[in-house]
Amino acid sequence: MSRLRSAMQRGKSVVLENTEVKKSSNKKKTKATIKEEETSEHSSYHFFNDLPEISAYRSHLLQWYDQNKRELPWRTVAMTEPDVNIRTYAVWVSEIMLQQTQVATVIDYYNKWMQRWPTVEKLAAATLEEVNQVWAGLGYYSRGRRLHEGAKKVVSDLNGQMPRCTEGLLKLLPGVGRYTAGAIGSIALGQVTGAVDGNVIRVLCRVRAIGADSTGPAVTEALWKIANTIVDTERPGDFNQAMMELGARVCTPKSPLCSQCPIQTHCHAFRKVSIKQEQDSKRLQSKLASKPNTSVVDIENCSAGSCNLCLSEDWDSKQGVQNYPRKPVKKAPRVEKTLTCIVQRQRGQETEYLLTQRPSKGLLAGMWELPSMVLESDLSENKHGDLLCTMMQRFLDTLLGTDSFQFVGEVVHILSHIHQTYVVYSVCVSDCSEKEQEQNTCWLTKCALQGAAVSTGLKKIMKLYDSSSKANTRDIKRKLSPGDGTEKQSNKKKKLKVVAANGGPKQLSLSKFFSTSKQATKTKSKNT
Ligand code: SF4
Ligand code: ZN
Repeated sequence: MSRLRSAMQRGKSVVLENTEVKKSSNKKKTKATIKEEETSEHSSYHFFNDLPEISAYRSHLLQWYDQNKRELPWRTVAMTEPDVNIRTYAVWVSEIMLQQTQVATVIDYYNKWMQRWPTVEKLAAATLEEVNQVWAGLGYYSRGRRLHEGAKKVVSDLNGQMPRCTEGLLKLLPGVGRYTAGAIGSIALGQVTGAVDGNVIRVLCRVRAIGADSTGPAVTEALWKIANTIVDTERPGDFNQAMMELGARVCTPKSPLCSQCPIQTHCHAFRKVSIKQEQDSKRLQSKLASKPNTSVVDIENCSAGSCNLCLSEDWDSKQGVQNYPRKPVKKAPRVEKTLTCIVQRQRGQETEYLLTQRPSKGLLAGMWELPSMVLESDLSENKHGDLLCTMMQRFLDTLLGTDSFQFVGEVVHILSHIHQTYVVYSVCVSDCSEKEQEQNTCWLTKCALQGAAVSTGLKKIMKLYDSSSKANTRDIKRKLSPGDGTEKQSNKKKKLKVVAANGGPKQLSLSKFFSTSKQATKTKSKNT
């Protein structure tokens, strides 16, 4: 209770602060502000203007949340942790992990992370390598890197104290945008601010029948305005989490559960659908009775002549409330092919694999990967051998011929913006070492590789390699006829052992591969 009270006090002071911010920002109006003001002037239909309605909305939503909320580790910390610095840090970690990743997946990663780095100081003292290792498999690796950068900044520039307001979070922490700052500010610090994420966009677009492109500036500003208006001043964090929870569990993208929705009476989309259904059934009844239909209910609608928040296209009655929100047509993902080589060597009983580290900026920054290069789209497969030889010269001090490489297969790995196909080869090397070079490289055993900071794409490649190696071993074993003489059989077994000692069973050499039809193994799966 005392936390709640102090949160309320903090909330009040933030309301005052926000008023001050509004006053000063009034002097300088941006194009977006002017557009938003024009919109709000003409289309009150899309906003909340009635105080009793706002208060009813809050109470319906919070009542539902109190009875239905999921117990999540970061929610427990936000409710029970008395140290504001740890509380803010914990909510920050959870919010960054939840960006683009589902709650169920995040829980384990979050618990592991908080056990390892329970405070911002502990995270700041970690290496990027360790951070990537704990993040491995969660996807969008720049998020972990930014958390790490942010922690170092908090320790070096802010004396280990997390920012204490939404503006500070937004300004000072890398990777924290408007939504994340609003979520951390309201949940951990009790600040009275809205938080508009994907779930909230969907809920609000339906509740206020906003059907223009939900990613456009006019809609974005309108949604923030609504969120800041309706947020509960006493329980802003719970209110924002309730909005998100409602979007995730009731007002879902497909098949929303309108009959169970606590805010159904406030929802324009629901009302529109109900009235349309009523109209249709009345029309049908009149038709059957061959009477003119005189009692059609009017649909409550936006009164603005030209409104940039209304549906830009015709209403699709099959879609019902799912007519909202509207999204722009998605850009097709970039199609990319990458030549990848599994380089292995034998060290005593252990097989080791060569890995190289990606640059510290850009896609999968700082992660370890197999030697790879992006292929030009129109490159002929006959050129793979030469490219592999050139690529290996960058890493090894031994010259390899094109016949040293075996084709393993292809792995398709779909990221949100790239449709990646890895064309995988393998090579076994002996008595050679890696070059002294600018690039980071290392040799890892299979076991170490599984625990290292490697991407899901690399794990898929190794899985394919393992299964293709096992398949080849089975083929060779099958060829060993049980009727052979013992000497002959034991010679063949010896041969198999030699092959294995040389780094795995024999696969098609590159030249043989090109002379036969290519049997590419494709593994499809969704990216995390
Ligand atoms: Fe979403 Fe239906 Fe609830 Fe409206 S009534 S907010 S569309 S679930
Ligand atoms: Zn409108």
